[in-house]
Amino acid sequence: MRPSPTFGVAKKAAAKKAAGETVYDFSVGQPSEPTPAFIRKQLTDLIGDAEAWKTMSQYSPVNGLPALKKNIAYKLQDENGLTYSSDEILVSNGGKQAIFNAFAVTLQKGDHVLMAEPSWVSYADMVKWQGAEPVGIPTRDDFKFTADALKMKLAFNPEVKWIVINSPSNPTGATYTLEEMQAIADVVLAENKRRLSEGKAPVMVMSDDIYEHMVYEDKYLNKAGDKSAVSNNIVMANPDMKPYTVIINGMAKAFAMTGWRVGYAAGPKALIDKMGEFQGLTTSGVSAISQLAANIALDPKNKEPRENFFSEQRASYIQRRDKVAELIADAGLEFKPTPGAFYAMVDASALLGKKLPDGKEIKNSHDIANFLIEKHGVATVPGDDFFIEPDKKQSFVRMSYATSMNVIEKGIDAIKGAVSAILPQGRDEGKGRG
Ligand code: PLP
Repeated sequence: MRPSPTFGVAKKAAAKKAAGETVYDFSVGQPSEPTPAFIRKQLTDLIGDAEAWKTMSQYSPVNGLPALKKNIAYKLQDENGLTYSSDEILVSNGGKQAIFNAFAVTLQKGDHVLMAEPSWVSYADMVKWQGAEPVGIPTRDDFKFTADALKMKLAFNPEVKWIVINSPSNPTGATYTLEEMQAIADVVLAENKRRLSEGKAPVMVMSDDIYEHMVYEDKYLNKAGDKSAVSNNIVMANPDMKPYTVIINGMAKAFAMTGWRVGYAAGPKALIDKMGEFQGLTTSGVSAISQLAANIALDPKNKEPRENFFSEQRASYIQRRDKVAELIADAGLEFKPTPGAFYAMVDASALLGKKLPDGKEIKNSHDIANFLIEKHGVATVPGDDFFIEPDKKQSFVRMSYATSMNVIEKGIDAIKGAVSAILPQGRDEGKGRG
């Protein structure tokens, strides 16, 4: 298993910072602001409480504190319009552990897992860890796969056990409309009808909704206009998908709580039970104080501060995204604003085949990202680190814009310096999806 490439870049950036160098860090996807004040304040108050101390002093139930599971069920009903009971929910150490649990208890050697190209680094590596194989679904210029592309992949591949759908997507920001999600659901339901009629196991969908609040255009929002409106997922698109779907979500991105490590899965009870058993064997329940913090975040009584936080964040991400697009164009590269998440896949194909100042040719996105961090102090993630089929190449670098405007402005100015060291004339021909 290889280490997480995103954390690898972040480590390089941290080492440079520790050596006193200026670094503009666009690598790890985490909100730069602290966890909202209402959560911090109410947790601080709760810590004086004897009951809370009892909870924090002991092992928490493996599948999650009952109060938190109840509030997760409330959230799924309130924001997603979906009904889940507490025994269909598992609280995990971040969304990451929920994903790993699901793969660990279902995948065997030879199984296939479909995912969009490119996809978040960890899915493919976690799949490989189980001896199974990640398989890419080709995407269009908007980084989305169509229902037809999925149908083709399923038609020739009886080994597919899971389809991962991450909308809005890390790393691309691609976000599916309700209609697109419905068309995907139709394909999965038809496939499962056939599989079940032949006595075979159905294909499952992993719906990773972790960026559901980071949507910047109404047409991608379910209940647009509502302050807590979220993106569409496959069960929202078609309730018949519920038995075949595990929803993955968590506190990290929506509540600026990456450090607390609270995520969750919601899905069929039999699968959730298995995932819980595996979690019980490996790590036990999630840190109790973190679960208490998550419980405050999702408490029905905190609907107003929660929604205010979401809408402030949304407005601020739109500003940052648009600023990145404007400055990146000025630097001679290209980023077309995408409707969700907080990542810019910057098309750096204009630099491919050109010479670095030391005379070496730029062959791929790693060469670009290395030059940016080593010579200009800008940390980005090479596009090639995200999952695509091995025979394909791309020339993007991913920048997380969940950072301050100051870092965005100064960091992209440094990128402009880097580009002009490679392309002395500035902009170049030959751009386009690499
Ligand atoms: N899913 C996606 C697509 C992500 O980008 C991340 C984090 O970067 C996660 C899941 C996991 O988040 P966490 O484990 O912090 O809850």
